[in-house]
Amino acid sequence: MTKKWKDQWGSALELDEGLFRLRLRSPGKSLIVNTYVYSGGGALAVIDAGWPETVDQLETALADMGLAKSLRDVDYWLYTHAHIDHMGAAALISQKTHAPQIAWQGLEPYRERWHAFQDDMHNWTPWIAEAFAEPHRSRLLAERKNQGGLVDKYGRGVLENAAFVEFGERLEIGDLTLEFHDARGHDPHHGAFFAPERGWLFCGDVVIAVPTPICRAMNDELDTYRDSLDRLQALDAQFLLPGHGLHRRDNIDASFERSRSFVTDYEGRTLALLRELGRPMGLYELALAFTPDGKPYQPASRWWVHIAQVDSHLHALIERGDVMCFSGEHGPLYEAS
Ligand SMILES: [Zn+2]
Repeated sequence: MTKKWKDQWGSALELDEGLFRLRLRSPGKSLIVNTYVYSGGGALAVIDAGWPETVDQLETALADMGLAKSLRDVDYWLYTHAHIDHMGAAALISQKTHAPQIAWQGLEPYRERWHAFQDDMHNWTPWIAEAFAEPHRSRLLAERKNQGGLVDKYGRGVLENAAFVEFGERLEIGDLTLEFHDARGHDPHHGAFFAPERGWLFCGDVVIAVPTPICRAMNDELDTYRDSLDRLQALDAQFLLPGHGLHRRDNIDASFERSRSFVTDYEGRTLALLRELGRPMGLYELALAFTPDGKPYQPASRWWVHIAQVDSHLHALIERGDVMCFSGEHGPLYEAS
């Protein structure tokens, strides 16, 4: 019988021998993250500990599941990528435990200022100023009030006990061998953990049930993302363990195909709409043209991901020569070539 837990802190499920998936309740967040826990060979490891706000829930969950008395009992903290829903809690956790915080080497420059780095990633103002045309640009900049970041709440955030790893490295976690693979694109710091003997692939946000967000505001890149899809698919995983949504044992190739077709579809739709409308358009107008009723999607987070997605695809199309960009003082306008 697979074990299940449900409590104030959220829910958990035993997925395989020694492998658990936690979903911590994150009040005020519209996004649920999968936090994975491995217990075996005398070691306890947590992959993608989650938001800064759910550290206490995580500790209670591990205790309720009988895996740890406190966060100090965790031997390894592993992170697929730097985003706040996956690695936002890293600096706070590192103050409570001496166990290594394992993430990609490219994050080294932010070790001393983890929360400031998180806040910078979420400051989309420079991108808004560059990507939108008037009248939307001024309106969006005015709406983008400073919401108060992690530095205000928790201080600078030093990542203690950071143990950065390179792509291609192997890690021994108790009796589990993990390979760390390059999975950049959705985040310029994205990696994936693959357990070759068991076929487990912790793929983070590379393969999820919706289009993986690619935001130029956060330095994401479509081409790099496509390469990561190919690279991870070639591992021939037997058990796909994504950062959000459902795990999968069968027909894993179909999940990769779906993620690939999300990219192709967005790109095709962007170009088709520009051709259909037949005149230079700003990013906001174009993003609205995608919607069935000409209104922004709800909630706002979904709408912003959509705009960022359209923007990334526009830039890929410009690079290929399919779209032209006219920049003036009122901001960029796009037209099909
Ligand atoms: Zn995520």
